[in-house]
Amino acid sequence: MNYKIGDILFTREQISTRVIELSQEIRKDFIEFHTGQELLMVGILKGSAIFIADLVRALGQDIDVRLDFMVISSYGSDTKSSGVVRIIKDLDAYIENKNVIIVEDIIDTGLTMSYLLSILQRRAPSSLKVCSLLNKEERRKVPVFVDYCGFEIPDKFVVGYGLDYSGKWRHLPDICVAEPV
Ligand code: 5GP
Repeated sequence: MNYKIGDILFTREQISTRVIELSQEIRKDFIEFHTGQELLMVGILKGSAIFIADLVRALGQDIDVRLDFMVISSYGSDTKSSGVVRIIKDLDAYIENKNVIIVEDIIDTGLTMSYLLSILQRRAPSSLKVCSLLNKEERRKVPVFVDYCGFEIPDKFVVGYGLDYSGKWRHLPDICVAEPV
């Protein structure tokens, strides 16, 4: 199926406001529970690249924030996750005894995040949380607790602000619905 860029679901202004709010939530929790410790923000590429860049810059300079990235690819079609995840690039950092927040673009069936959580949990981090810009709760096949969620969205395929269709449209500043043509 082919897609075209459809209606805007969230404007760049709405995204910017929500990302700053999320960052402040993370900051508040981190200061409350982990003052003086290190916070490792793990971006899942490529979808979270733009989100994590905005998110971390609002955390504030008094928190010891580190960045790391994983590149994963999901076996499946362009718009459906199979839940089988291949790690193309693993973390550079050891996460044992670290406070880790996984930063993802979207959680759909939950299969990818559930798999990632199981891999990272085995490495014995001190804490492991999930921050996702978008969440399609109604599509869940496996339960995933999202500690920090930007927006709940309906069962629609969306693009922009890092999210792609076949590699395209990640650069769009707004989040748009991709419509079949
Ligand atoms: P899950 O394993 O939760 O079903 O899928 C997660 C991955 O599927 C996301 O990281 C993303 O790559 C892709 N995905 C799921 N829904 C959408 C969507 O609406 N738009 C885009 N661009 N990707 C999606």
